[in-house]
Amino acid sequence: MVKGQIAARNHAKFYLEDGDVILQPYKDQIGGITLFCVHKGVLSFNSPVLRELFAKPPPGPKQPANNDAAIEKPLYHMKDSAQDLSEFLRAVYEPGTLLLPESAPDTPLRLAPIMKLAVKYQVASIQASVTDIMSRAWPQSLSEWLDARAQRKLLEQKYTDAMNTADNYTGMLDGKHLADRLPEPAAALRFAHDCGLHGVLPAAYYALASVPAAKDWDELQRASPDSFDDIHLRAARWSLLRPDEWRRLVRGREHLGRSVALTLEAYGRTDEFEERLGDCCRGEASALATRLRGGVLRNGAFDALLPDPIELTQQLFEAVPSWGLCTSCTDTLQGDLRFAQECLWLEIPRAFTLGQSDAVPETGEGISVAL
Ligand SMILES: [Zn+2]
Repeated sequence: MVKGQIAARNHAKFYLEDGDVILQPYKDQIGGITLFCVHKGVLSFNSPVLRELFAKPPPGPKQPANNDAAIEKPLYHMKDSAQDLSEFLRAVYEPGTLLLPESAPDTPLRLAPIMKLAVKYQVASIQASVTDIMSRAWPQSLSEWLDARAQRKLLEQKYTDAMNTADNYTGMLDGKHLADRLPEPAAALRFAHDCGLHGVLPAAYYALASVPAAKDWDELQRASPDSFDDIHLRAARWSLLRPDEWRRLVRGREHLGRSVALTLEAYGRTDEFEERLGDCCRGEASALATRLRGGVLRNGAFDALLPDPIELTQQLFEAVPSWGLCTSCTDTLQGDLRFAQECLWLEIPRAFTLGQSDAVPETGEGISVAL
């Protein structure tokens, strides 16, 4: 070894004896070098970018700095970290490891480094798998949002049942809190911005708008294992948000708050009902508005601070059949509410100013193979 040269070590898993190309990532944090020995053919098959790279003679010396005189394989310097490269190679060689549960709160954090390299090296199969996982966790339409809500309600019911029946309920079912089974919006947002998966953003921002700023995911995890006992508790990894994302969130939250306030106003007013109901049920308008103000609309001020107007309209939608109206008027009011939900869903990108001077995905930097 040349004096002053940093010692290199072989990666524990991806220094494959029969590999025919050495990848040397960027120096890791402690200044060491980890070498990967992989198959040119496998990577070339999956990645047109790496295929092009390997078609050229390696720019550096053949000999990696690991004292192994027997090795005479081409060596390529990569700008990626050893950690990211390791995760990426795992996804290439063992695609099954990508099958993470879409609803787990850590999934976006684990998929982000893989997706960044999959985009950079144009590995279509990995991009498709990761996009699929993230898209399943974050609804892309109102009907998907309603499906996800229904599943969440079922899950909440299981925990509520356990709380009411188990003698020593610990807040967990099969070793997991409810929060461990639901996607966490700030991690999803970070993933979507960094990896350019913008389809995830509306649902992630929308979900964040109704999470109290005081409920920080990491603080709750550190506090005690029982912090997540409250099954309705929503928390987010607030520290992942950048200043422009906070601005979007505050604007969107105000926008949704106005929607909640307008809905509460409309459904608490006699004249609004008189306008919507037919002659058959118009006589019920006053009693109905009074009843709603004392019932489903009662928590209005709080709802507007942490707004979830689609949830509010869904609760109204589900309550309409119990309002004692004729079938025709019931249909009319439910139709109004469904239409309002569609409008609310379509408004989300504008409410959070998405798509306006949106950050360019960091993956647009091109091939970063250093000489
Ligand atoms: Zn009627």
